[in-house]
Amino acid sequence: MVISLWYDYVMKKLEDFAEDINKCSKCGICQAVCPVYKETGNDCAVSRGKFVMLDGVLKGDLKLNKNINKYLDLCLKCDKCRDFCPSGIDVCKIFETAKYQYAKKTLSGKLVFFLQSKLIFGNFIKFFTLLTKPFRKKVKNNTSKCIKVLYFKGCVNNLCPRTDNYLAKIFKNSNIEIINKDFECCGLPFLSSGNLERFEEVKNHNLKMLDCEFDYILTDCASCESTLKKYVNTKFINIGELVNLVDLKFKFSKPLKVTFHKPCHLGNTDFLKPLLRKCENIEYIEMDDFDSCCGFGGEFSIKNHKISKAISERKATNVIKTRTDYVITTCPGCLLGLKQGLIGKKNAPKVISLPAFLNKSQIIYSKFD
Ligand code: SF4
Ligand code: SF4
Repeated sequence: MVISLWYDYVMKKLEDFAEDINKCSKCGICQAVCPVYKETGNDCAVSRGKFVMLDGVLKGDLKLNKNINKYLDLCLKCDKCRDFCPSGIDVCKIFETAKYQYAKKTLSGKLVFFLQSKLIFGNFIKFFTLLTKPFRKKVKNNTSKCIKVLYFKGCVNNLCPRTDNYLAKIFKNSNIEIINKDFECCGLPFLSSGNLERFEEVKNHNLKMLDCEFDYILTDCASCESTLKKYVNTKFINIGELVNLVDLKFKFSKPLKVTFHKPCHLGNTDFLKPLLRKCENIEYIEMDDFDSCCGFGGEFSIKNHKISKAISERKATNVIKTRTDYVITTCPGCLLGLKQGLIGKKNAPKVISLPAFLNKSQIIYSKFD
């Protein structure tokens, strides 16, 4: 059963989070996990410093101005500080509300909101989805006992048909039925820029799309999945986990070494070892800090390009040390972050998504009844 979670920002103001902001004990644990703090050493980059500023705003000592907004933007939205905060503060929710309040009163904020509107951004994605529809293959299955998965493609896969085609090949004649619906963006880019009204709009649209029978929501982007989980309470499955439900093998024509980057928003990597056991001719080498951030963070990579690149390069050093042929990941944003760090580097492995990597093999199917 799908339960829609109450995640309604628009009615909230920064004042409504005063209690949460005061819960910050200034313990500094967030400093130890924040990739931006690790790179900059700037306390305003991490939740603790941001809360000091926002507390000043609430007390009337500071104004919610361009300068504070700049520090609010100094965040990858990786949620690592939230996951480790002993006071249990839903950190990004507070930053997003503050950004919303600031953006609503500035011309540049209004312009960003306009560009992200259904009219511009929504129709842009819709246009490319229609344009690429003839090039998308569908999963054909030959059994009535199907696992029904509702596929949340995400914006990147709506623009490009490749992942649909990879899935069609992997799950051909399987007991997996992939259901496509007219989803909008998960809403993460809107949360990042504080566009809470647009977030509410896509949230309500996506919830309506869930009015059908399915066993899981399938995602192949860790960030989409973590955003959907903010407002949808149902079973999710990623492509790696789905492959593990199916009896098939991936035979690679020559021995390959691979490593894996864990996206910040990916809950766990439990699927990885069973999946690698299905792959013939593959040697897995774990990189140091395989779960450290790739540095991309959507608009962060544009607004804070130098810091973003520095974090990506730090990641790239660990990737290169593995001396592998491929670095695999499960988030289109991380693909860009990894490429940003590895570009022009000697001995850099190829960056690849999990479905694209599996499609490099000969897929050996079992019989599905
Ligand atoms: S970990 Fe939580 S309580 Fe500790 S300083 Fe950071 S935000 Fe405050
Ligand atoms: S969400 Fe990530 S980047 Fe942003 S303050 Fe928290 S740990 Fe730092």
